[in-house]
Amino acid sequence: MAARAVKHVNGSRFMMAGCRLAVTAELFSLVFALLFVEGAPVPVHLCSANRRRFLQVAGASVLLCGASAETHASEVEDDLVYLLNDTHIGEKHPADSPVPTHLRQVVSELVTRTRRPAGVIVNGDLALKDGQLGDYRHFAKLIQPLREAKVETHLTLGNHDHRENFYEVLKDLRLESPAVESRHISVVETRHANFFLLDSLQKTMVTPGTLGEQQLKWLEKALDAMKTKPAIVVTHHNPRLGGDPLHFPGGLIDSEPLWEVIGPRKWVKAYIHGHIHDRGYAEHQGIHILNTPAISYVADASKSTTGWTTARLAPGGVTLTTHTTDSEHPWNGQTKQLAWRAG
Ligand SMILES: [Zn+2]
Repeated sequence: MAARAVKHVNGSRFMMAGCRLAVTAELFSLVFALLFVEGAPVPVHLCSANRRRFLQVAGASVLLCGASAETHASEVEDDLVYLLNDTHIGEKHPADSPVPTHLRQVVSELVTRTRRPAGVIVNGDLALKDGQLGDYRHFAKLIQPLREAKVETHLTLGNHDHRENFYEVLKDLRLESPAVESRHISVVETRHANFFLLDSLQKTMVTPGTLGEQQLKWLEKALDAMKTKPAIVVTHHNPRLGGDPLHFPGGLIDSEPLWEVIGPRKWVKAYIHGHIHDRGYAEHQGIHILNTPAISYVADASKSTTGWTTARLAPGGVTLTTHTTDSEHPWNGQTKQLAWRAG
């Protein structure tokens, strides 16, 4: 079967919603659904088959998740995205310790919602410390209810992750010919914005991150091919621009080259990161820099806390709501409204 639609945008060629690819994905689903880890099936389609497509930019493909015709508005809130980061799941964490408990908390909230969000992004540091296979098996088991509830879940990697071990467990996320060699990247389309999920893992256990020249080149082309909607860049590491300079040494080394790409592209509106295990809002060249809270733990509970963020998108901006794991915390339910820069 031929691809359902081929669009030409600014000379770049997209292959959108390929039926053939969807069928292939279904087959993979059947194969991988037979694999079990510690009694629980390995999550196969974090991005379900009917939303899974491949964006062709510069001869390479990248996983693209977006709303499909099969998704009914009554089932999905297409303007809502959940933002999680720094889950730090270890193989041997006792079930009742805060780390897996906090993640289970948001997972159970997600699966009991009457309408699913457009997507859930877990922005890096999925694993406890150095990305052991067992950490990813435990992580996979914890997020398995999301797959069963058809909640689209998208993952990035952080400095406590190990790319090979991650792919070893979450096998379906490895692409045969990735857009950028040795980097796990994807694009998530939602009604009001496209999310570009980048991979800033330089080396496991090395605190600062990098994107690298190849990934930046890819980003440039991908952004140009999708300029009709606001773009939001999602990366585990904080940039070394805007925000608190105290965190710059452990942040993204190639922040300046990144800003040379996203600064002049006025449809890029925000940059979301974790890594710091705190909450903060900053701005550089009109691009909002959102530091979202860690779900696992914080360094100083008197100054910060654990939780997750929901982003309610509108054509001109976003409303962010903090959800703390301690329902009594003063940050719980706090909202922040941000307007997009012009252009
Ligand atoms: Zn972390």
